Amino acid sequence: MSFWKERAKMQALELKTKEKVKIRRVYMDYAATTPVALEVLEEMLPYFSERFGNASSIHSFGREARHALEDAREKIAKGINADASEVFFTSGGTESDNLAIKGVALASKKQGKRHIITSKIEHHAVLSPCESLEALGFDITYLPVDEYGLVRPEDLEAAIREDTCLVSIMHANNEIGTIEPIAELAAIAAEHGVLFHTDAVQSVGKIEVDVRKLGVDFLSISSHKIYGPKGIGALYVRKDALKKIEPIIHGGGHERGLRSGTENVAAAVGFGKAVELAVSELDAERERLTRLRDMLIRGVLEIEDARLNGHPTERLPNNANFCFARIDGEALVLRLDALGIAASTASACSSHDPERREISHVILAIGVPPELARGSLRLTLGRYTTEDDVKYVLEVLPDVITDLRRISAL
Ligand code: PLP
Repeated sequence: MSFWKERAKMQALELKTKEKVKIRRVYMDYAATTPVALEVLEEMLPYFSERFGNASSIHSFGREARHALEDAREKIAKGINADASEVFFTSGGTESDNLAIKGVALASKKQGKRHIITSKIEHHAVLSPCESLEALGFDITYLPVDEYGLVRPEDLEAAIREDTCLVSIMHANNEIGTIEPIAELAAIAAEHGVLFHTDAVQSVGKIEVDVRKLGVDFLSISSHKIYGPKGIGALYVRKDALKKIEPIIHGGGHERGLRSGTENVAAAVGFGKAVELAVSELDAERERLTRLRDMLIRGVLEIEDARLNGHPTERLPNNANFCFARIDGEALVLRLDALGIAASTASACSSHDPERREISHVILAIGVPPELARGSLRLTLGRYTTEDDVKYVLEVLPDVITDLRRISAL
């Protein structure tokens, strides 16, 4: 059945079902985004109205905004064990990744260094800037990963060259949840005098992120993955690394010249509060989510021809990712949606444009055959996920899979 036909059928079914019963809604796509926590929203609200000042103005309105901005910076720095002077606000994870990669490339090409190492399973916010640099004459090495999605330290060591300026390997994968051995990888880069960036967009707030223990030079964070507002993030820049990165957005010299543009004070205040909350709840949430995740994994693996993607233990506490043989991931997500469950395929696809649907580069990189990779499902849990939610998914998923397999067999 074509994508559009399947979608139309699902929408009709959804309307009918909603008319009859009040449908249960279960959000299991926390890796895509999270709701703004009420505590966060409350802190932000005054900065849209009475405390609206421009943080660069020298009068009292401006000073009030500046004070809030610096307070947020402190909270974020504390959350990752950095100094406040090492935190630079950006518009989100994508911009932080672009700034780290293109900013280091711009600064390094002056010394004739034009080689960057990354991995095959990075988010497109890392892969795309690398590809854009390739078009400008940079050489990029894309490291393979093992069957669990882990980068092998010996592969990194072997790939480093005289002209390598940067290594960029993500802390935790957004699709399969695998946690990379960043401290070990960053130590190898440091031994060779090469700068190291990590995309920690998915790990902050879920596992410990300590820039000193990780030994990284640059680290990307995004607010909307941790119950903060969308459109704000930060790049951690280790003190000594600041002279090795150039801005990619030029203007009034905000953020100490590294990122111009009037600061989004309300969003920064929310982001700061979100980091503070995430860190204070981290231990308890990690335990609670790991228990729910494992319950979900155990239940789903009882379905015939289901496989777990990603590392069995070195994985984010909120991530479960599966492949189902003889299933189209998009059709599965649409069926679940009709039953009130928000999930995602692991594929980097655009739901608006079926022509652009592609199989996940991450699932392919861990060696899953394309036919099986097509049937992937990512379920990510969060602050508001309950045991009842997990039970509901486990109750409906087996029948949905059976039904889709029956249709595809026809
Ligand atoms: N990096 C990773 C690993 C992500 O999961 C995401 C978002 O999905 C991003 C970067 C992009 O972050 P943002 O949405 O804040 O631009």
